[in-house]
Amino acid sequence: MNKIAIIMYGPPGSGKGTQANLLAAKLDIIHFDTGRFCEALVHGPDRQKEKIIQRERKLFDSGILMTPSFVLKEIVKHVKAIAKTGHGLIFSGSPRTIYEAERLMPVLETLYDKRNIFVFELKMRESFSVKRNGRRILCSVCKAPLLTAYYPSKNPKHCPVCAGPFYKRTLDKPETIKIRLKQYRERTEPIVTILKKRGYKIFEVSAEPAPYKIFHQIYGHLKNRR
Ligand SMILES: [Zn+2]
Repeated sequence: MNKIAIIMYGPPGSGKGTQANLLAAKLDIIHFDTGRFCEALVHGPDRQKEKIIQRERKLFDSGILMTPSFVLKEIVKHVKAIAKTGHGLIFSGSPRTIYEAERLMPVLETLYDKRNIFVFELKMRESFSVKRNGRRILCSVCKAPLLTAYYPSKNPKHCPVCAGPFYKRTLDKPETIKIRLKQYRERTEPIVTILKKRGYKIFEVSAEPAPYKIFHQIYGHLKNRR
């Protein structure tokens, strides 16, 4: 089941990264985390001198989507390298704009075949997203998020995976979350509509239950359709 490409959409805080990790482990495919990929691209030490990286870093840190042509070029490069190894792929939050979708989907079709492409849309109320993101903390070492609703400690100190210290991302500040939600609504959500029209398999799943329950639902859809 590993020659498969999955695209996971959902507003900030919907847990698309968590679902992608669960599916990647279950199906033995590679999780392409666009957010983390972009973060590494603009904050990584290697390319800090490049003007284009400095410009993109400013966008990234303010919660505005980075320049689509730039992101696309970098993503396609990596996707081709992964497909070459024979692995399947799961994207969390990508392609994020119509521009990216129109150029990335044909690449995926060539590499994986249209019938092996699955799109999931995690649905969540915006108030829920704001609340969840406001409490979001990540491990600074392994990047695992702490599911604060299920670990109701007032001041958690150690990551349950590796015991590393936690940090809060700059883009999870309440004012930035509002910008990210608006960006999702205006630039990403319409892609799902377009993909539906073009005949891709799209499944809507509620993002509000516990992650393991969401995972069972998603996995059920994949098992039934293949
Ligand atoms: Zn950790």
